Amino acid sequence: MNKEELNRQTILLEASVKASQILISNHNFYDAVNEVIEIIGNSIPNKRVFVYEFHKDLSGNNDLASLRFEKLNGEKAKRIFDSSHQNIPLSFLPHNIIDSLLKGNTVSLEEYLLIPIFVEGSKWGYLGIESFEKEEEWSISDKNALNSIASSLGQYINRHYQSLELIMAKELAEESEIYANSLFEQSPLCIHIFNTSGIIERVNKSSEHIFSIPNDKIISKFNILTNRKSIEQGWNRFFKEALQTENEVFKNLTFDPSAFGYNGERKVLSAIAFPIRFKGKIKKIAIMYQDITQNIRNELLLKIQRNLAYSILSCRNFSEFYSAFSKEIDTIIPDNNLYVAFYNESSDDFYLGGINASSKDLEIQRWPAKKSMTGYVLSEEKTIFVKKDEIERLNSKGVIEIIGSMAQVWLGVPFKSESGISGAIVVQSYTNPKAITDSDIEIIELIANEIKIFLDKKSAEESTIKLTKAVTESPAIVVITDSKGRIEYVNPKFVTTTGYTMEDVLGANPRILKSGETPNYVYKNLWETILGGNEWRGELKNKKKNGEYYWEDISISPIIGDDGKITHYIAVKEDISDRKMLITQLIEARDRAQESDRLKTAFLQNISHEIRTPMNGIMGFIELLRDPSISPQEHDSYLDIIEKSSHRMLKIINDLIDISKIEAGIIQLKFSEVFIFQLLNDVVYFFKPEAEKKGLKIELDCDEQCKNLTIISDQEKIYASLTNLIKNSIKYSNEGEIKVKAKVTDKFVEFSVSDNGIGIPEEKIGKIFDRFTQVESNSISRAEGAGLGLSIVKAYVDILGGTIQVFSQLGKGSKFIFTIPLVRDAVGTNEKILEYSDSVNNNNLFLENKHFNPSKILVAEDEETNALYIKTVLKTSNYELIFAHDGLEAVEIFKKNKDIKIVLMDLRMPHMDGFEATRKIREIDKNVVIIAQTAFAFTEDKITVLENGFNDYIPKPIRKDELTAIIRKHLSN
Ligand code: ADP
Repeated sequence: MNKEELNRQTILLEASVKASQILISNHNFYDAVNEVIEIIGNSIPNKRVFVYEFHKDLSGNNDLASLRFEKLNGEKAKRIFDSSHQNIPLSFLPHNIIDSLLKGNTVSLEEYLLIPIFVEGSKWGYLGIESFEKEEEWSISDKNALNSIASSLGQYINRHYQSLELIMAKELAEESEIYANSLFEQSPLCIHIFNTSGIIERVNKSSEHIFSIPNDKIISKFNILTNRKSIEQGWNRFFKEALQTENEVFKNLTFDPSAFGYNGERKVLSAIAFPIRFKGKIKKIAIMYQDITQNIRNELLLKIQRNLAYSILSCRNFSEFYSAFSKEIDTIIPDNNLYVAFYNESSDDFYLGGINASSKDLEIQRWPAKKSMTGYVLSEEKTIFVKKDEIERLNSKGVIEIIGSMAQVWLGVPFKSESGISGAIVVQSYTNPKAITDSDIEIIELIANEIKIFLDKKSAEESTIKLTKAVTESPAIVVITDSKGRIEYVNPKFVTTTGYTMEDVLGANPRILKSGETPNYVYKNLWETILGGNEWRGELKNKKKNGEYYWEDISISPIIGDDGKITHYIAVKEDISDRKMLITQLIEARDRAQESDRLKTAFLQNISHEIRTPMNGIMGFIELLRDPSISPQEHDSYLDIIEKSSHRMLKIINDLIDISKIEAGIIQLKFSEVFIFQLLNDVVYFFKPEAEKKGLKIELDCDEQCKNLTIISDQEKIYASLTNLIKNSIKYSNEGEIKVKAKVTDKFVEFSVSDNGIGIPEEKIGKIFDRFTQVESNSISRAEGAGLGLSIVKAYVDILGGTIQVFSQLGKGSKFIFTIPLVRDAVGTNEKILEYSDSVNNNNLFLENKHFNPSKILVAEDEETNALYIKTVLKTSNYELIFAHDGLEAVEIFKKNKDIKIVLMDLRMPHMDGFEATRKIREIDKNVVIIAQTAFAFTEDKITVLENGFNDYIPKPIRKDELTAIIRKHLSN
């Protein structure tokens, strides 16, 4: 080693020693490294000294190298921040150099000497020297000295990093403490830190706000585990739970500052408690509180609203509703004093609508509205929320007068229902001025509104009930349909009237009631009216479920909804069938009255003539008979005329009676078996003499079927009909033949009477069945008669269910045909059928071959002439007649003459009438034949007569042949 080399080695060694001293003593990393580079640079002149650091790019994937420190020749060493030698990817550098460096080897090139720097055994960077002299020979000592410096640098960097970490950790700890402290203090949540014995050690600012207790009165003074209040309210349990748990414990707690002797609102707090651990051991317990009073209140409000909405529907009366909402109020305002007062306008006072349990001592049930707090609320028409001092002020101003004890706090809210019920709901406290808070106002106002809704609903319900009652109990029929005309409702009257049940008609269309007898234009008009939004009124004939028709007086109105559209139709109807019938009956009665008026006129015009004619005959000829100079022939012919006139008169009177019975509608049918052939035989036989007298032949033509035919019908009516027709044929015929025929058709017996008489003019044919109708003809003299016969016949045939027709040709003859239903068996045959012998029934056929015995006959008759008549009629017969002048005498005579066969009993007699006498005689003898003589020409009277013990009756005036026939008949039995 030459001197120069030795010198350089010494310098370098010195530099390395100096560098290590610098690095030990200098605490500033950058200054220290700069100084070391400066020393190196000064030790070896004309050289560039530099330090590169390996590092990663931002992505952390690529290795880079950046120049950190440099000393150029003749310049001072300096830190490099920004140069082209920054962030050079290692891949850009010759990799054999980089590989050697990374392996920890010194790289010695012609102009460079590069020495790796390791920190804690990991590559950090490299120290490099650049020589400006060509072909520099780097000596071992150079390398050793520089290696030593690089190793010192590595150690220094390591130390530096370690102290850096420490500083950072300390800073971080300080920072987080600041954060934690400010979070703790500034948190809107109230935080209490307890030691594990339950004493509060630290509280934040929010605590005072939430608990209304100053922080210094809490810290160290409050033991959550032993405090009576916290035990009562379960806070200590909550705390214990937090002590035992791994995680947080949640709970909602109520806090009332007054319980701890502080003024402040009662709060509902949501609390979360959790343990704070240090090295695994619980050191503290933290409880964080949040004021959820408002949330709870909002929830409660919602719940109350929901509950009250339900109560409004379910409560039947106010007192039920009252207890529902008073319960709700109790959940929010404990120890409240609640009442509801209703205002009575007429007496200007209040009465209690409900009080809660704690107000039970409120004994006043009624109090005047004037000068009362409740009255003040009502007059102000708004919520009044006052404390004691305000109440006193109102009192001193004379607005109110304090009665009884004064409330500390008073809240009253008015209400007024739509139906006019007004009042107020009041909640107050006598003891705690903080018992009611501003936030309670909202709740009480809500309840006041619910009371109003409840009252409205009740009054709506009441009116609905009234309406429903009115509809269900209405005597009118009510039908409600939807807009499509489908039935939605019918009231009970509908059901009873139509016979349709609710189920039958729901959803159906009211057209089910259509009778089919209403013209379509009526319905058209109906629909046009109601579709136009108007009411339709009218009468419709409708049909019940059983097919029966009925009349309705109807009013149909559309119900229009809010949107102006028709939603329903309502029909209110009245069954006017009875009224209609009454009207019909009235019309009929009126027609009948008019008809009888016509009858009266006709009677006067026609009948009077018909009566007067025979009367004149009778009276005139009786007068003539008095003349003693008349010859016996004249005498006979006069009597003849008188007799004929009397018959004519009787006929007219009988016809009149019959027609008036028909008119009066009191014709009664007596059904019995009718032996057709016998009936025809009788009638023909009867008229034979009369017909022959006029030179007319009368013949009966009965078909074989008819000969054995018995039908069920009214024999008398058929007989009378045939008599009338035959009589007319005789009357209106001057020659030819009268044929009486009968044949059986499908369902009828057809009778006909034909003649070769004068006939009936065509234009009159339609009228001959009308009453008092006579065909007047000039060609022949007007025949006698009242024009009643054919109308009687027609009426009889009609009521027997048959028909009558006439065929006639003027001058040639007439034929009358009538039918009678062929009823072979009828239900009515059991009816008591009366047999009697009247004028037309004087059937000689029956009387032939009869055997007569002289018998005792008692005649009870007060009229001397009648008695004389009977005596004269019967004098030729071989009877023993005994006469009684009244009923009493008759009974007496009968007692003495028990062999009396027949009693002819007049009904109207002095002392004892015929009915009474008959009863008495029947007591003596049940079998004796008693025949009533009655002036009632009504055949129906037979019933009365026969029910009173008579066997038969004979109508007055008594005709000779009738009398003989009836006596013979009964004697022959
Ligand atoms: P009257 O008592 O007048 O006979 P009726 O009612 O029996 O009343 O008859 C009405 C009218 O019909 C008679 O007046 C007569 O003109 C006519 N008439 C009835 N029967 C006959 C008949 N067989 N031949 C012709 N005319 C008749």
